[in-house]
Amino acid sequence: MAPEHATDESAAIGRRGLMLVVSSPSGAGKTTLTRNLIDKEQQITLSISVTTRVRRPSEIEGVHYRFISMRQFEIMRDSDQLLEWAEVHGNCYGTPREPVEAALAAGRDVLFDIDWQGARQLDEKMPGDVVSVFVLPPSATELKARLERRAEDSAAIINGRLRNAAEEIGHWSEYDYVLINRDLGESFARLRAILTAERLKRASRAGLDGFVGTLLDGLKVITT
Ligand code: 5GP
Repeated sequence: MAPEHATDESAAIGRRGLMLVVSSPSGAGKTTLTRNLIDKEQQITLSISVTTRVRRPSEIEGVHYRFISMRQFEIMRDSDQLLEWAEVHGNCYGTPREPVEAALAAGRDVLFDIDWQGARQLDEKMPGDVVSVFVLPPSATELKARLERRAEDSAAIINGRLRNAAEEIGHWSEYDYVLINRDLGESFARLRAILTAERLKRASRAGLDGFVGTLLDGLKVITT
């Protein structure tokens, strides 16, 4: 996205971008929420992970993931090209470092759809930059129903994902915010509100000093 699309607040005050990490068990609605956020919010970029997992029929190379071999993954991991990485459901996933660092330096925010292991690594590496959100399903039966509705995975894979859900959910309290996704519209509004508040919190002191200085000069001019 070009810089002229910057939101009012970031254009006025200037700041380093923030890292918005969203985690949840598969099927809780995280992917829909993050895709909606990218559609509606300018000035935020989705981090495209690399994975050794097989591509699902609905997925597009370079849009949902970069699908790579185990050998390519090992090369990236061992040459420090990944900001974080983890094994999830028996496959390897990782966040390429370079696009994230470039976006943050340019003042753009970056959105991550990654698991608790990745969230923890990012928070350890870049503590002040990370805002983390955990998305919970409204119930166990609803989670199972959502995975089945998606109908892209076999029964065995769905079962494995449900078993892994318990482990992922066990980390909910490590996150800054928790959303119970009962209604997609409502959860989306809350996610957006979190982003807006965290952007305002990170407004750069220097930028605000300049803005307030101009405001005070203006007041001097118009007061008699
Ligand atoms: P899926 O295979 O359903 O797309 O993703 C499985 C899990 O891996 C999800 O919880 C997803 O958030 C997580 N994941 C995707 N990309 C990454 C990544 O780059 N790093 C980490 N740590 N987890 C990831």
